[in-house]
Amino acid sequence: MTAVNLNEEITFSFIVPVYNEQDVLEDFYRRLATVVDRLGETYEIVFVDDGSQDRSGDILRQLARTDSHVKVVELSRNFGHQLAVTAGYDFAAGQAVISLDADCQHPPEIIPQLVNRWRDGYEVVYTVRKTTAGVPLLRRRIGRLAYLAIRLISGVDLTDQADFRLLDQKAVRALRTTREQARFVRGLVRWIGFRHTAVEYEAPSRAAGQSKYTLRQLAGMAGAGVFNFSLRPLRLAAVLGGVMLTGAVVYGVVAIVLWPLGLCPGAWANVTAVVAGLFGLQFVILGILGEYVGRIFEEAKGRPLYIVRQTMGFGKTQRDTQGHRATDESHQRGPKVFA
Ligand code: UDP
Ligand code: MG
Repeated sequence: MTAVNLNEEITFSFIVPVYNEQDVLEDFYRRLATVVDRLGETYEIVFVDDGSQDRSGDILRQLARTDSHVKVVELSRNFGHQLAVTAGYDFAAGQAVISLDADCQHPPEIIPQLVNRWRDGYEVVYTVRKTTAGVPLLRRRIGRLAYLAIRLISGVDLTDQADFRLLDQKAVRALRTTREQARFVRGLVRWIGFRHTAVEYEAPSRAAGQSKYTLRQLAGMAGAGVFNFSLRPLRLAAVLGGVMLTGAVVYGVVAIVLWPLGLCPGAWANVTAVVAGLFGLQFVILGILGEYVGRIFEEAKGRPLYIVRQTMGFGKTQRDTQGHRATDESHQRGPKVFA
């Protein structure tokens, strides 16, 4: 196979993270291919197999063998949705890169709308889901609370944005320069800027299979949304400390004044209240500090974001490799795939 200059030839890249989606993959592929064929442009579909343990890997390899548009990046284990999407962005070569989930919750049928907005000159076309059928109430509530917390604490509003978006190649290149470990792609997409616009859609329930997100992963994402994008919690901690200290000083003065009059509550009650209050505050502040220190630790290790076991369908000009903290150029270098 001869090496082709992928950057010039491919108009659309579709990146699809896949984790144990054997029941939906073939349908999804057919639906996407139908929509995309109608666009009448060159394209590639980059599936990122995020360490699936079911037959997803076999299905993807088979698709790559029969359809030259299909490319597969196989990660060495499950790295999580956000990193799988990141790998997709690293490997995509299209002028516009569209990310969507394999479970058909991001209906391929609205892709032409995204493309139209891109042709209008928008470099980031994100989608906002109006309703999600079949998501349990508890999860919806937790999701909403998480968004609210993110907005209140860090001032970033990400309400109901999905990881279903179109990015111009320029925006993709900008996104590749951000290599932080605890990833929250939506937040990063906001952060890189460019001309943004939104398209609304109705999200159906999953075509089959189960949601792969655990509550813990959702909480992790919310944490990344807050602590990776804002120093406000640290300032809040300082403010809280200040308020407590002022309160303690005022209380101390009042107690000293009231003491001779015999109006002061017993010493035990005083000590207990002050100790409990201060300890509580200390731990809150330590916890907030810990979030940041932990993140510094993760970043300081400088590990790659993900490891690729093998790729299929890219021909000779395979792009990066291992999700290293890397400049954009090094993504264009040859493959570093562990055999
Ligand atoms: N996914 C992934 N790695 C994971 C979890 C999920 O690549 O560890 C993929 C999954 O196959 C799907 C997309 O990410 O294509 C969204 O996952 P899911 O549908 O489970 O999330 P939800 O829609 O419930 O938020
Ligand atoms: Mg889903």
